[in-house]
This record gives sequence, C-alpha cells and structure tokens, in this order.
Amino acid sequence: MTRIAIVGGGQAGMPLALGLLDKGYDVTVATNRKPDEVRAGQVMSSQCIFDPALRIERDLGIDEWGDACPPVQGIGFAVPHPEQAGAKAIDWAAPLDRPAQAVDQRLKMPVWLERFAARGGNLLIQDVGVAELEALAQSHDLVILAAGKGEVVKLFERDAARSQFDKPQRALALTYVHGLAPTPDHSRVSFNLVPGVGEYFVFPALTLSGPCDIMVFEGVPGGPLDCWRDLKSPAEHLAASKRFLDTYLPWEGARAAKVELTDAKGILAGAFAPTIRKPVMTLPSGKLVFGLGDAVVVNDPVTGQGSNNATKAAKVYLDAILAHGDAPYTRAWMEQTFERYWDYAKWVVQWTNSLLLPPPPHILQVLGAAQQSPGLAGLIANGFNHPPSYFPWWSDAAEAGELLKRHQAVARAA
Ligand SMILES: Cc1cc2nc3c(=O)[nH]c(=O)nc-3n(C[C@H](O)[C@H](O)[C@H](O)COP(=O)(O)OP(=O)(O)OC[C@H]3O[C@@H](n4cnc5c(N)ncnc54)[C@H](O)[C@@H]3O)c2cc1C
Repeated sequence: MTRIAIVGGGQAGMPLALGLLDKGYDVTVATNRKPDEVRAGQVMSSQCIFDPALRIERDLGIDEWGDACPPVQGIGFAVPHPEQAGAKAIDWAAPLDRPAQAVDQRLKMPVWLERFAARGGNLLIQDVGVAELEALAQSHDLVILAAGKGEVVKLFERDAARSQFDKPQRALALTYVHGLAPTPDHSRVSFNLVPGVGEYFVFPALTLSGPCDIMVFEGVPGGPLDCWRDLKSPAEHLAASKRFLDTYLPWEGARAAKVELTDAKGILAGAFAPTIRKPVMTLPSGKLVFGLGDAVVVNDPVTGQGSNNATKAAKVYLDAILAHGDAPYTRAWMEQTFERYWDYAKWVVQWTNSLLLPPPPHILQVLGAAQQSPGLAGLIANGFNHPPSYFPWWSDAAEAGELLKRHQAVARAA
C-alpha cells in the first residue's frame, strides 16, 4: 500500500490527508500541536472560504459546520470621501451567487485531526525539522510539507522570479467579536479601502462561542493602522480596533459600537512577506519533499484567498496522487503537479499583490462604476469565487475600458 506522510494539520494538509485515507492510502499526519492545544490556542486566520472551495470540503464529507456557520451572502466595497468627513466616495454591495463561510480554525482543525486518527490515520504530534523529514522520507513513498508559515517551510527555496515582494506589505490584525450590527439586505464581507492607510474588512463567522464577526485590519507599514505591536492586552487590542473605525470609517465604527471580544484569544497581530517558493526540496539524504499550501504559495490576506487556495491545492494534489497509481513520486511529477495548481494560483497571486500597491486608474474606475452597475458589482463580487475571472481586464486598461462600455450599455438598456 502506498504510504504518504503530510506535515502540517491545517487547511491544506487535512483535506488531502482525509481524502487519501478515504481512498485506502496509508497516511501519516505529523503536526506540531495536539487537537486540544489548537482548540485552546490563539485564532490563526479569518479563513473566509468561498463556494468552490467549500464544495471541495462538502465532496470530501468534511464540512459539518455548514448549517451552524452564518452565511456570507455578498461583498460590499466602500472608500471614504477624501474631503467630506464621514461620507463615502464609493459604496456598493452585491450578492454572491452562493454564500461563503468562515469557520474558526480552532473549531475545524481539531475535529479533522481527531477524525483522521479515529478513521485509522497515523497522527504524530511532533515539531518537524530536517531530521524528522528524513525519517518520514525513509518510511513513506511521498512526503508533503504543508506547514503553513512554520519556520520549516523556509527550507524550500524562495522563487525570486515569482515573488513580487521580499518584505511584509501590511501590518495584520484580527479581532473576533460578538455584538456587531448586521448589514442591510444581506450579510457580506464589508471591505473598506482607506487610500494610503490600509484596508478593513469584516464578515460573519462561527467561533468557539457560536456565531461572531471577524474584523480584519491591514495597515500600510509605518502608517496609522500599523498600530498593533505595543498593545499589552486583548482589551487594548479591542480598543485600538474600535478607535481606528471611529476615526477612519465611522459607518463601521457605528456598527461596532457595542462589540465585545469573543474570547481573550480571539485576537492576532503580525506581518509576513507574500512569498512563492520552489515546490520541491532535496533533503541531505537526496530524498525529496513536496510543498503544499501556504508553505509554497503564501499571499497577503487582503483578498481572503489563502484558505481557498490551500483547499484547491489539496484537491489538485489529491487528484494527481489518485491518478498516479503505484508509480514512484519523482521530482518531475511533483513539479508538474505544482504547475497544475500554479496555473490557477498565479492569477490569485497577481490579483492579491496588485491590491497591496496603489491601484491604477482603470481599477479605480471599474470599482467606482460598480456603484451604478449592479451587473458590474456582481461580477466583481463573484470574482472572489474564482479570481482568474478578473483577467485580462484587471491588469489591462484597454480591456477594463471594454468591460466598462459593456456594463454601461447594459445599464443604459435597462
Ligand atoms: C490575518 C489572516 C487572515 C486570513 N484570512 C483569510 C481569509 O479570510 N480567507 C482565506 O481564504 N484565507 C485567509 N487567511 C489565510 C489562511 O489562513 C491560510 O492561507 C491557510 O490557513 C493556509 O493553510 P495551510 O494548511 O497551508 O497552513 P496552516 O493552516 O497555517 O497550517 C499549517 C499547519 O502546520 C503546522 N506546523 C507548522 N510548523 C510545523 C512543524 N515544524 N512541524 C509540524 N507541524 C507544523 C501548524 O501547526 C498547522 O497545523 C488569513 C491569514 C491570516 C494570517
């Protein structure tokens, strides 16, 4: 029987591990925290997952939070008016064709790990470094490293040609809250862009204590939203979150007037450089390790795509492994499998990276025009399901002009 080891019990590793186990593979998951440690730990993400990736979880039968988790039914976009305090220069919202959902990884990962062990998977709790990778490579036909942003993933060589940045582009913070006032008409990711300062988005989710909302702050380094480092307590973190909203996005501040933290560990602050790594690592013994998920393609969370990417990558790898039969797992197979994923992921990376830089005029024009065109707003909102659909117009001013003409013609005809 083919033996496969997966390092990292996260959003990339676990769907793959559970999918392989279902198909009769002998699977080991080595991860560095016990299920109860994950449950009792700090939040890790805002993990909003859109329908195509949710469908992968549903098809694998690992989506038990579908009924309990409040739906994210749309996307909203707002930019404050540069001159009129408290007014918006751009403001639109559009429904998603099918809802997204965000289940706290503290709820999800422990259940997946426990289910994996209960179904006969070999669960090892260990902090994996080179020695442990060597041991896994001795006893398994394929070793996949899906350790997210763990130090060990730096053993994969950075792909300089595919990595646009070498430094963090945003100071990140999460604030999980109860008591946020809902949006009218439908729930949504309410995305706010404050030029030169950063981004704030917020959406409903499910956490340990039930339905909640997750606030995500993305501060331009050195600016007023790069303010999380010196805060000393969860209460200070919450106060800084509210202060920012009251100052820069008063409509969001009003929604947040009565919020409380879901729990003392419902906050996070940090920063990392968006990075693409070469997907195959050679161990000192000459054995190979294959990278999956954030370990090899880590994006800034500004577009909320990392968990989606991780799930979609897991599906590409699962299908490739199932199609491979008993043949040996060569470097060529690993590189081809990664490229199959990269054919999709490169568009997500390009779109995400573009939002970390000041937007070019044609993007501002399209985002502004969506205010008058529900069709255009719907197209932008539903692009979150499948970011390659933004191209070519996202990166091509002439194509964006054509898109605007088409939607203005539709708006005139209506
Ligand atoms: C602030 C923030 C907000 C985000 N919001 C969203 C969002 O709204 N939507 C979205 O799609 N994505 C979002 N993401 C990204 C998303 O969380 C990640 O892309 C996703 O979790 C990646 O999955 P992964 O399995 O590759 O890594 P992870 O989920 O990080 O899993 C890695 C696993 O490896 C384990 N590990 C690490 N090192 C070792 C080691 N040495 N040995 C053994 N085990 C190890 C870890 O414990 C963990 O279990 C956000 C991220 C951040 C930081």
